[in-house]
Amino acid sequence: MMTLNETHNPALQSWVASANSAGTDFPVQNLPFAVFRRQASAEAFRGGVAIGDQIVDLAAVAQSGVLTGEAAAAAQAGAQDKLNALMALNTSAWSALRLALSRALREGSADQAALQACLVPQAEAEYDVPARIGDYTDFYTSLHHATNIGKQFRPDNPLLPNYKWVPIGYHGRASSIGVSGQQFRRPVGQTMPPGATEPSFGPCKRLDIELELGIFVGSGNALGEAVDISQAEDHVFGICLLNDWSARDIQGWEYQPLGPFLAKNFATTVSPWVVTLEALAPYRVAFTRPEGDPQPLAYLDSEANRSCGAFDIQLQVGLQTPKMREAGQADANICRTSYRHAYWTVAQMLTHHTVNGCNLQPGDLLGSGTLSGPTLDQAGALIELTTGGKNPIALPNGEQRTWLEDGDSIVLRGWCEKAGAARIGFGECVGTVLPARVPKG
Ligand code: CA
Repeated sequence: MMTLNETHNPALQSWVASANSAGTDFPVQNLPFAVFRRQASAEAFRGGVAIGDQIVDLAAVAQSGVLTGEAAAAAQAGAQDKLNALMALNTSAWSALRLALSRALREGSADQAALQACLVPQAEAEYDVPARIGDYTDFYTSLHHATNIGKQFRPDNPLLPNYKWVPIGYHGRASSIGVSGQQFRRPVGQTMPPGATEPSFGPCKRLDIELELGIFVGSGNALGEAVDISQAEDHVFGICLLNDWSARDIQGWEYQPLGPFLAKNFATTVSPWVVTLEALAPYRVAFTRPEGDPQPLAYLDSEANRSCGAFDIQLQVGLQTPKMREAGQADANICRTSYRHAYWTVAQMLTHHTVNGCNLQPGDLLGSGTLSGPTLDQAGALIELTTGGKNPIALPNGEQRTWLEDGDSIVLRGWCEKAGAARIGFGECVGTVLPARVPKG
């Protein structure tokens, strides 16, 4: 597990002035990765690192000769149009690059002039999905979400008996994952309305969100070789925000017996910025189980996982309706929670995924599952916040929502803050619903 080092020192200041402002997501202690280019340009996408309201262009850094050794090699790997080559390196290379950039971006650095020439303003940038995602697996690590959903689908038997023993997941679809700013058409499909004897066909009527984190796999494992929990985090590059858009009416009809399919694979949105586990080190917290719950089986258990396997990441969901947009109003907060409430950790997800010999590859993406906390206002999906559509959410401008309407935008935000550490953030993950295009039924 990553320990604190000089890059986490909360007293560090950067010569990039915007990185020192109180509310910034991107102080010099964060240094998350994305792929970007200047908006509407013919430039190639390449890796970048956020600092304040700027981006350090890794392709320019690699050309500049300002970095040396392992850090220079890592910057070169990060200069490509996806981060897979950088992700395929190891914790030593990622750390060397972080340390070198941290030193070069600090106040008083001799490299200021050279690095200044490598900056691109975030206001001028557009982003792409950070990696070529070969495989996407979505987990289900919130006990509160699993229980709330289970009550609606199976009132007599909400939490299935495997939940507290197995980190539940399913294989998702990578092709429809888009970066923040993604717009997608409301899905159409089959549903079975309550009381009907035959299914209907048409636009989804119960379109929902799922507040999740995405975990990008770094170095992979060979087919047949499980990753021990003590090494699991060495295979994790970093964490982003993830919205797993969900068509609840389609899901309710199709999900048995093989699980989610068309209700989930029409769109998934991720934030451009991937925050490294090293940056998150100050925000590790103990992983605990409620009294009376079973402890994880030995392969999912370690001293390090128990003492600091969880992360205290603050999460928030905002909803902006077309009326709010037209009136110039910002999105309204509909949920606030923390990742610390998850029932399974990042290390446990990765270990469990490989225990049968399944091989993960650099750039693979693991979804955490909807990160609902213990109380209703901490629920990360409308199906919970509205109790299955029965209790609409009141918005500040007088509008209501049970499910998403055409034109609605959802904004996910994530950040970490506490006394004695620098506040770091994930930026935003925004997606917008467009009207359905209805084919013949
Ligand atoms: Ca999900």
